[in-house]
Amino acid sequence: QYILGIETSCDETAAAIVKNGKEIISNVVASQIESHKRFGGVVPEIASRHHVEQITFVIEQALEEAQMKVEDVDAIAVTEGPGLVGALLVGVNAAKALAFAKQKPLLGVHHIAGHIYANRLEKEFEFPLLALVVSGGHTELILMKEHGHFEVLGETRDDAAGEAYDKVARTLNLPYPGGPMIDKLAQSGEATIDFPRAWLEEDSYDFSFSGLKSAVLNTLHNAKQRGEELKSEDIAASFQASVVEVLTKKTLQAAREFHVKQVIVAGGVAANKGLRSSLEEVFKGEDVELMIPPLHLCTDNAAMIAAAGSIAFDQGHRAGWDLNANPSLDLELYGSRKSKV
Ligand code: ATP
Ligand code: MG
Ligand code: FE
Repeated sequence: QYILGIETSCDETAAAIVKNGKEIISNVVASQIESHKRFGGVVPEIASRHHVEQITFVIEQALEEAQMKVEDVDAIAVTEGPGLVGALLVGVNAAKALAFAKQKPLLGVHHIAGHIYANRLEKEFEFPLLALVVSGGHTELILMKEHGHFEVLGETRDDAAGEAYDKVARTLNLPYPGGPMIDKLAQSGEATIDFPRAWLEEDSYDFSFSGLKSAVLNTLHNAKQRGEELKSEDIAASFQASVVEVLTKKTLQAAREFHVKQVIVAGGVAANKGLRSSLEEVFKGEDVELMIPPLHLCTDNAAMIAAAGSIAFDQGHRAGWDLNANPSLDLELYGSRKSKV
């Protein structure tokens, strides 16, 4: 079974061919980071325009690298949401046009299901499984008892982890995207500042990062007023220590409560060195397998969309020709919806 995956939810135009939901045949990603850098973040209008310019080439290249034609694939899977609506529309329309022209089954995929399924390109899932999704727009703990079904145990009440990284980076005058830069600075700094940890209610698996972000801003502001110099490295290390501690402890607590066999980490912030080593440290002592994907599968790509699409395909889900971009698609609803043939 070969699935062509297409992803355009944010600032990466991507297409990939995946065999049996597990094996990457080709995986092409055209990043727009350079175009958005000077604005300090993703500009939706610019993102849409780039997707329109890139989408045909990217799909052609994914097919070429796989030495396949659209005729050879079994289905076309595309990110239908969540994401930027103008960006999503480009991928959805490209997928619909191709599927209609070649009369191929069409599959709508939830972007976060994709981030989770990126891990299956490395290793088979074992249920129950806990996924920590940490990306630019999401921070969630998700329980999976079977393929294609998702139970959201907790999520952020304000900023996503990646968003907090990017905002703090901006106040430190670091270029976009700030996550990787803070991560790097943190390696050479000391966590000397005791920033707050938002545990929220006992037993809550929700997250909150806006208080931490404000605390960083206030600390910088107060230091400036007093004429003190704070080292960026130490700010980065202290901020990262707070984020990582909360993510690690809540993940560990949920893994124990639900007796999961695997814990998988997904999304761009899964690339974070501090988070990776903290999770490795605590799960060493647990009877749980920790899976963290290689860096190129953490950030947006289309192989993960094809991998999630493969499950939807096997479960008989089919999108109609009325498939539309849904910027606020719900993950639990996505997992529970009936097939449409
Ligand atoms: P979503 O998947 O929620 O729609 P997105 O697709 O924009 O959002 P991703 O591409 O998965 O998010 O991840 C991008 C985010 O990951 C950015 O916020 C970026 O700063 C962050 N990030 C990337 N590498 C690191 C790192 N090493 N440490 C911390 N954050 C990182
Ligand atoms: Mg991105
Ligand atoms: Fe993403």
